Amino acid sequence: MTTAVTLSGAHLGLFMALAPLTIGLIIYVVAYMAKRGEGSIVPPLGQTFACAKCGKRSVREHMVPANFEGAVAWYCGHCAADSTSRAS
Ligand SMILES: [Zn+2]
Repeated sequence: MTTAVTLSGAHLGLFMALAPLTIGLIIYVVAYMAKRGEGSIVPPLGQTFACAKCGKRSVREHMVPANFEGAVAWYCGHCAADSTSRAS
């Protein structure tokens, strides 16, 4: 078990020195990706959307988002209730 002894020596010290940097970098990348994803999925307030089914245009608060393999479609309250009841 000579390899384990050498690993727990200098290599462990190197790992302990790099671990905070690596974890910090991972957190930064995850936060950056989450922020980018959020920006594309959640549009700014006050924006209007046309219903993907009946075409009725309304503000975001009155629309229901539906995720189709990454693409977000918006339904009005009536069409969202209609599609969810049909899916289940
Ligand atoms: Zn509709």
